[in-house]
Amino acid sequence: CDSWLVHCRAGYEGNCAAELTEYLHLRGVPAAYAMAARGEAWLRLVNPMPENGPDLATLVPDDAIFPRQIIPLWRWLEALPTADRVTAIIEALPAGRDFNGLQISYPDSNEGKSLGRLIKPLSVALRQGMRSRGITLERNGAPCLHLFFPDGRRVSIGHTRDDREPVGGVMRLRMPGAAPSRSTLKLDEAFRRLMGEEERGSLLSPGQRAVDLGAAPGGWTWQMVRRHIHVTAVDNGPMAPELMESGLVTHVRADGFTWRPERAVDWLLCDIVDKPARVGQRMSRWLVEGWTRHAVFNLKLPMKQAWPTVRDLLRQLREELAESRPTVVVRARHLYHDREEITVIALDKG
Ligand code: SAM
Repeated sequence: CDSWLVHCRAGYEGNCAAELTEYLHLRGVPAAYAMAARGEAWLRLVNPMPENGPDLATLVPDDAIFPRQIIPLWRWLEALPTADRVTAIIEALPAGRDFNGLQISYPDSNEGKSLGRLIKPLSVALRQGMRSRGITLERNGAPCLHLFFPDGRRVSIGHTRDDREPVGGVMRLRMPGAAPSRSTLKLDEAFRRLMGEEERGSLLSPGQRAVDLGAAPGGWTWQMVRRHIHVTAVDNGPMAPELMESGLVTHVRADGFTWRPERAVDWLLCDIVDKPARVGQRMSRWLVEGWTRHAVFNLKLPMKQAWPTVRDLLRQLREELAESRPTVVVRARHLYHDREEITVIALDKG
C-alpha cells in the first residue's frame, strides 16, 4: 500500500488528518485514511488500494494548511534491533538507489525531544555505513532520503524532493535582538514559507507603505522597518520606543476593526486576536476595496473543528476576491511559530 508520514503541530493531528483525507476523498481515493495519536505531532496517511488510484503525491496541494512536512514512504520498520539499528535500516533501503542528502526527523512533542540525543550519533553511523556499502548521498537529481523515528524502536524510510526543506517543517529562526517581541518570528517565517524568493524580492521593497493592525509592541512592524518600509501602527497599546525612533513608524491609537487609511497602501498586517470570522471579514473588506495590495494576517483557531472553520473562511475570501481582485492569490499555513492560529497571506500577482 501507499503511505505517507506527515509532521504537524502536537494537538493538531486530527485537523491535519481531516484536511488530508478530505483532499484525497474528493479526488478519487475514497479508501484513504489516517492513523494518528493525539499529541504525538505526526500521523501516517494510508491508501490501501494504490493500484486503483493515482499517486497520493499528486492529490494534495502544495499549500495544505496543517501538514508541516509530507514524506512519501518506501518502508515502515517495527522492532528495530537497538544494538544495531544502522544495519537494519541500510538493508531496508530500496535496492540500487542513491540519494541526494539525508534528513532525520523525530516528533515535535515532549516525548520526541528526548530522541534528539539518539539521532546525532546514529546519523554519523548511517552515513559511514552507507558510504562503506557504496551508497552515495550526493547524487544530484536523486530524492533526499528521509528517516523518521517515532521512537527508538521504529523508523519510517521515505523521501523528500529537496534536502533544503526544513526537517519536520521545524523552521528555527534566530530571534533578532532588536525586535520588540517574539511575534516577529511569525512574520519572518510567513515571508519565508508563504512566499518564494522571487516574490520576496519583487513584492517587498524599501519605500513601500504598510499598516499594522494590533501592532503593539511592534514585532511585526519591526520586520517592515528592517526593510525600510513605512508603517502606520494601529493599536491602543504602547509601541516599543526604539521602534518609534526609526522615523518610519506612525502610531495611531484606534480600533483596528474600524480604522481605514486615507490612501491605499502596499501591505496590510493584522495580528489582532479575535474571532476568525470577524478578522476574515475585515481583511476581505481591505482587499476588495483596494485599500491594500497585499495582506498577512492570523486567524485564531477554534478549539473544535479548526479545519472546517478555516477551510470555509478561506473559501469565502477566495470567492470574494475572484470577482473583485482576480490577480490576488491566497495561501495559508499552520507555521512552526504559530500556536493556536494559522497565518494567511494574500499576494497581488498582477
Ligand atoms: N504583532 C504584535 C507584535 O509583533 O508585537 C503583537 C500583537 S498582539 C498578539 C495583539 C495586539 O492587538 C495587542 O497589542 C492588542 O492591544 C491589539 N488589539 C486587540 N484588539 C484590537 C483592536 N480592536 N484594534 C487594534 N488593536 C487591537
